Amino acid sequence: MLPEASSLWLLRLLRDMQLAQFYRPILEELNVTRPEHFDFVRPEDLDSIGMGRPAQRRLAEALKRHRSGIKAKNWVYKILGGLAPEQKESPPCPDSSPCLHEPEGGLKCLIPEGAVCRGELLGSGCFGVVHRGLWTLPSGQSIPVAVKSLRVGPEGPVGTELGDFLREVSVMMKLDHPHVLRLHGLVLGQPLQMVMELAPLGSLHARLTAPAPTPPLPVSLLCLFLRQLAGAMAYLGSRGLVHRDLATRNLLLASPRTIKVADFGLVRPLGGARGRYVMGGPRPIPYAWCAPESLRQGAFSSASDVWMFGVTLWEMFSGGEEPWAGVPPYLILHRLEKDRARLPRPPLCSRALYSLALRCWAPHPADRPSFSSLEGLLQEARVSEGRCVREVTEPGALRMEPGDPITIIDGSPDAATWRGQNGRTFKAGSFPASAVALADSGSALTHPAHRGSPARRERCRGSPDGDREKSKFQELPPAQRRKEPLQRMRGISKSLESVLSLGPRPTGGGSSPPELRHTRASQGPPRPPDLPPRPLFVSSSSQPTQPHKVPPPWPREPSHNHRTGVPRASKATVPSGGPWSADPEWQGKIKEVELSVHGVTYQECQVALRAAGGDVASAVRSLKVEQLFHLSDLSRADCLRILQRHQWDLSAASRYVLARP
Ligand code: AMP
Repeated sequence: MLPEASSLWLLRLLRDMQLAQFYRPILEELNVTRPEHFDFVRPEDLDSIGMGRPAQRRLAEALKRHRSGIKAKNWVYKILGGLAPEQKESPPCPDSSPCLHEPEGGLKCLIPEGAVCRGELLGSGCFGVVHRGLWTLPSGQSIPVAVKSLRVGPEGPVGTELGDFLREVSVMMKLDHPHVLRLHGLVLGQPLQMVMELAPLGSLHARLTAPAPTPPLPVSLLCLFLRQLAGAMAYLGSRGLVHRDLATRNLLLASPRTIKVADFGLVRPLGGARGRYVMGGPRPIPYAWCAPESLRQGAFSSASDVWMFGVTLWEMFSGGEEPWAGVPPYLILHRLEKDRARLPRPPLCSRALYSLALRCWAPHPADRPSFSSLEGLLQEARVSEGRCVREVTEPGALRMEPGDPITIIDGSPDAATWRGQNGRTFKAGSFPASAVALADSGSALTHPAHRGSPARRERCRGSPDGDREKSKFQELPPAQRRKEPLQRMRGISKSLESVLSLGPRPTGGGSSPPELRHTRASQGPPRPPDLPPRPLFVSSSSQPTQPHKVPPPWPREPSHNHRTGVPRASKATVPSGGPWSADPEWQGKIKEVELSVHGVTYQECQVALRAAGGDVASAVRSLKVEQLFHLSDLSRADCLRILQRHQWDLSAASRYVLARP
């Protein structure tokens, strides 16, 4: 069989080293077609095709020579060759801490495209969509996985999204911790795909906000999750990394009692003597979770991750509530710094834990506990377990029956009234201490040791008066079961807009009240006097929900359909006079488009369909043109021609485009 033109370089290179017999296995089993693909090949992969280590060394040398002689010609090379982030502080990495821009080793596994089959859509993030999948190992065994495909989006700089995607791969492939999501490997296909450990129970945020009859998560389990999280974050810190997007939406449930930290797209290496990463350009950040120094100077460190840990703790005990809901983004920094405001104590959160959260929110990064000390502090602040020894029916008291498991949220040895959660009913409230025996004591008179001290040091505006419930019984409201889907959170933090950017939150309940949204959108915002002259962060250009910076409707140019030759369907096919999303026919069309174009999001399908007047075939074609356009340096007209030549087979057209010299 004749070698393909696109891989002649490989054949030549292998021939030069008398390794031509490995041409087919490298091409077909490892799926390597371009020099930069070798960055993801680990020695074990070459072992698996029978190449000995001396031959591997010769190959590596030859590749180095080959690559130094070629110029970066396409986006893959550019990004893979330029993983160093936009770092301002001098980054001489200490020998002990790994740096992202000094890739070490190969990928955990390079997975052939055909070995992974994708199923149901699990979610959609900043730069990719995630599907459930099945990975068939060479042994024939199939394992369930999650597959994140790089979205080749119509908006925003593709290089940034690709860079973040590859950075996530680059970070994940070096991590190995029981509470960090595992990367199985990378598929060098079109689009690029990350094959990850599947977290079958989805995100913690989705679980926290799941509507009834799903019971709320018990307080004791939340405490366990916090300890797991602190352990995972201490591990990341020890690897010289800062996560920058810690939130319940980025914690996945691998089992009912196991969380894993995920979403490493914003992870950066800690550089410089100060152990900080400073953003070098306008990039979006999750402002409501951010430490003041991150909002003001774009400075991130393990200490700013600790701040985010505090906000994540708050989310967990608030039933997935949105932090700083109703506060306009630009005011959050003001409130944190000028008013020294802090998020209030959620009803289910013990005083000891809240005190810990307040320490995480210390104004000066150096005053915050480290993750490794947090592991110990959380152990100390853990809740006690007990059992009800007599029925409690007093008005206002937490109802319980003998034998009910009770988690004691707050209870000091000298108090007659404790606060806790009934493990049978999941209700929380105050009750007489004498009604509960601690699990390890067997006596109703044994009180829990008070493991943490109430927050005294820091002032907290809006904090509920925790001592009031000592004096009277008070059934606490059940954890708020917010029904908003994760969609809403996507708008909030996945847009990652700046606290200093003045745009309101997206539709569906953002942080800005409607009246503020209106005012700001129409008049331009008032700026607090003490804020820096210009925001360091700006909204993500790919976020379609920023009224102050409305992205161009997509496809961008009105003439686009004309140029791509896609006929406009009659307007009558587009539902009108109400939200389109409610129309089942429209929904069906979106689904159809989504299934026809690999890697596109629901939203992109919706926009394309709208632009195509509701015609599915036109929308599919225009999306394919856009995919190819963003994948290459060609014009849309060229992409259209290439797609037509390939009978609108996007994979074939992409392969053709990428194989061009
Ligand atoms: P991300 O792009 O990482 O933010 O992922 C988007 C969404 O996909 C998440 O919010 C999860 O709901 C879902 N997801 C991501 N990774 C996984 C996984 N490994 N297992 C299950 N669901 C996932």
